[in-house]
Amino acid sequence: MSHVLAAVAWPYANGPRHIGHVSGFGVPSDVFARYMRMAGHDVLMVSGTDEHGTPIQVQADADGVTPRELADRYNRVIVEDLHGLGLSYDLFTRTTTRNHYAVVQELFEGMYRNGYIVPKTTMGAISPSTGRTLPDRYIEGTCPICGYDSARGDQCDNCGNQLDPIDLIDPKSRINGETPKFVETEHFFLDLPALAEVLRQWLDTRDGWRPNVLRFSRNLLDDLQPRAITRDLEWGVPIPLEGWRDRPDKRIYVWFDAVIGYLSASIEWARRSGDPEAWRKWWSADGAGKDSQSYYFMGKDNIVFHSVIWPALLSGYSGEGSRDGQPGELGRLNLPTEVVSSEYLTMEGRKFSSSRKVVIYVRDFLERYDADALRYFIAAAGPESNDTDFTWAEFLRRNNDELVAGWGNLVNRSVSMAAKNFGAIPPVDPAGLTEADEALLATARAGFAVVGDLIGRHRQKQAIGEAMKVVAEANRYLSEQAPWKLKDEADKPRMGTILHVALQVISDANTLLTPFLPHSAQQVHELLGGTGVHAPMPVIEQVDDLDGGPAYPILTGDYTVGARWESVSLEAGRPLAVPKPVFRKLDPSIVDEELARLAE
Ligand SMILES: [Zn+2]
Repeated sequence: MSHVLAAVAWPYANGPRHIGHVSGFGVPSDVFARYMRMAGHDVLMVSGTDEHGTPIQVQADADGVTPRELADRYNRVIVEDLHGLGLSYDLFTRTTTRNHYAVVQELFEGMYRNGYIVPKTTMGAISPSTGRTLPDRYIEGTCPICGYDSARGDQCDNCGNQLDPIDLIDPKSRINGETPKFVETEHFFLDLPALAEVLRQWLDTRDGWRPNVLRFSRNLLDDLQPRAITRDLEWGVPIPLEGWRDRPDKRIYVWFDAVIGYLSASIEWARRSGDPEAWRKWWSADGAGKDSQSYYFMGKDNIVFHSVIWPALLSGYSGEGSRDGQPGELGRLNLPTEVVSSEYLTMEGRKFSSSRKVVIYVRDFLERYDADALRYFIAAAGPESNDTDFTWAEFLRRNNDELVAGWGNLVNRSVSMAAKNFGAIPPVDPAGLTEADEALLATARAGFAVVGDLIGRHRQKQAIGEAMKVVAEANRYLSEQAPWKLKDEADKPRMGTILHVALQVISDANTLLTPFLPHSAQQVHELLGGTGVHAPMPVIEQVDDLDGGPAYPILTGDYTVGARWESVSLEAGRPLAVPKPVFRKLDPSIVDEELARLAE
């Protein structure tokens, strides 16, 4: 058993999340975490909402609320959506907690002391009419990279590149339209070139990453420049240095604070668990966490933050770049074991876009369909290693042909037949098992090593395919053995044996599918007469901020209970539950209905 950190990308709290988002970071990380727990590892799965930065400030201004109020609204929406999907976070928190502020400031100070954060004079904007600092978000102009005419001072929403206001073509104040004046101002920069060599050495030791992620990360190292980590902005974490701490107009840049959330959330989880040092088992590069592993899950637009920036912060804080230094009070910290990045999900051939309404939000999806139907689609047909298109026709087909007609039907007909003829798990005929019986049982048992290995290597599409092969084999077995024909009293022992074998294989297949389909796995467990928790679920708890800030909702859960990753022999005579369908067959008319909604 080892300690495994599942570090899941932080959704930005400026709106509800759509199914493209959760197919990148949400479902794959949960499948992995659930499997690793079932296999006996000590998993810590953390994330939260990312709540600082310009977009939230801008949207709050537009809505006439404070940034905190806006973040509160979408933090709650996102917590409820992730809960609805059954994502088993040990802690899903947020970046506006006092604990997070303290950890961000500790990392900033540690890197500053070691010389990896340096002040630099740059050009900042002021309003010529008032003489006051003009924050980045209040400057608009043409993007120097793609030519988009409404790029903001810190970022172009069209091409996604980070910008500096002074680089905008024809910059204008969004307050009064005047042309800003650029004057010298001081900001802090992360000295990435001083960390390039240690990052290169580390990347050279990374085996088994998806090749595109590794290649992309190596290329980034070729052109590392110092990167600004503070901005002219009021909404964010204050700079923890003398003379800066109380300045209302300078804040730590949102990407710098958000990426530290993995660590701060682990510390918050430990503090809430009653053992404030427990986070070290996943993080300390010396001692408790030395042999732990950490896996980071995200969409491909976030690779740079996880394979370069975050390891750079950890190395700088630990004192391991070309300037050396001493670790801060948290000690030397582990770099990621693996950065697991997904590609993009598109929708009906187009890019997801909230503004153009090419979107389906998680909440709306879950109002009309079951969580496991979406989880199945994402695992079987999601953007694991290629951009992938979500179409309603394909969703319908996979739900009806694979989940309902394949897996659901196997469960339903086997449990119904056994319940009707035996009222319980039937016994095996003393005459013994046939070759066909033995072969099917062996196929199911072999699935544990095959499927487990694939999930452990982030090949989830192949993994669920292997689990569904067991289902297909069992369906073929039932058709060949045709237990429904064995109606004579003399044939009943053989009928019992066939159904016993079928139910045993259903139990095994159900365990293999549990990381992917936890809601229906619990139902199948109960149909087979099982009691207790098979697939533990997250809960939403309203908690107090540990350091006196406002209360907020978290996602958490007790995942120490539930099935293990192994075959469990069914006991003959165990009563079966009253059969009922596990999955809902969808009417083909949903395709046209959903396409009409998109076109509205
Ligand atoms: Zn652009």
